[in-house]
Amino acid sequence: MLPIEVQRAPTPKPKPSTEGLGFGKYFTDHMFRMDYSPDRGWHQARILPHGPLGLDPGASVFHYAQAVFDGSKVFRGKDGQLRAFRITDHCKRLASSAERLSMASVPHEVAREAIEALVKVDADWVPNAPATSLYVRPVVIASEAFLGVRPSDKYIFYVILSPVGSYFSNGAEPVRIWVEQRYTRAAPGGLGGAKAAANYAAGLQAAVDAKKRGYAQVLWLDALEHKHIEEVGTMNLFLRIGDEIITPPLEGTFLPGITRESALTLLRDWGMKVSERKLSIDELREAHKKGQLREVFGTGTAAVISPVGALGFQDGELKIGDGKVGEVSQRLYDTLTGIQYGTVPDTHGWMTVIK
Ligand SMILES: *Cc1c(COP(=O)(O)O)cnc(C)c1O
Repeated sequence: MLPIEVQRAPTPKPKPSTEGLGFGKYFTDHMFRMDYSPDRGWHQARILPHGPLGLDPGASVFHYAQAVFDGSKVFRGKDGQLRAFRITDHCKRLASSAERLSMASVPHEVAREAIEALVKVDADWVPNAPATSLYVRPVVIASEAFLGVRPSDKYIFYVILSPVGSYFSNGAEPVRIWVEQRYTRAAPGGLGGAKAAANYAAGLQAAVDAKKRGYAQVLWLDALEHKHIEEVGTMNLFLRIGDEIITPPLEGTFLPGITRESALTLLRDWGMKVSERKLSIDELREAHKKGQLREVFGTGTAAVISPVGALGFQDGELKIGDGKVGEVSQRLYDTLTGIQYGTVPDTHGWMTVIK
């Protein structure tokens, strides 16, 4: 057991109303922090009031972007119990993201203990309105003040918490997505397989341009040929063509999403035909022409399942299905959220009760 010093916030903040939660706008009273140095390793685990970290302006995170994070959720069930979704998998991914960026990685057991201890301290921040949850954001950053280009010697691991509402204000309405043929997000051999802050910086301009065109997000194509489908915004992507459900294979250019893996597991449980394979824009257009492109949806922790209603190209728009949420999208959403809130049996052992 990790010794964690707890320093409580002198005055708790007022809690926001559950209607206006949105995503990531509010933070709880406390955060977890632990520091790394070569001589001491990870040390001084502590829970303290949410507040500034106090970094030197020379800290290498500001110059060379050694920063990784993860994102998972804790849910308050109908029975009042708090449940974390696939917490160990999220902590393992944080460790592998840090390794990809040559950073000190936090052993997954330690990260998990830190998160559970923090959630217990801020347990009354887990909202209980439908479709709300507590978003958990663990982060590792390089903190050594040094301008030479090499991996930092010092790191900070911290965890912050944010009560969040439903990602979509009016339920899961299908969104319009721009098929991005100019910018790319991650090339083979790059950082795409890690949850690195730098990947997000690389994607912002395309998202801004897509918004100007009236689209909610972009669909990313592969960086080499701009031909194969990779991800949608910051979510993994699934398509249903006829009775085949297709998602691109993990080849290091995008994140191995935990929601993706959960969706694949459920689809296989249900006996559906599932393929992890490459899919080109030409094949997608062809399927659409034949009336076989039935559903497109994104998967990710924040929105769980995000249905896509239309794909925009320079030469026009493809409408997906009948413009409503598709049947597979809906079934996945209902099952995953049911497991998360404890109303559907958790046959895969994905939930951890925090008490
Ligand atoms: C976080 C993330 C996802 C989704 O992963 P989940 O584990 O399902 O939340 C997908 N793509 C990118 C680029 C991401 O950063």
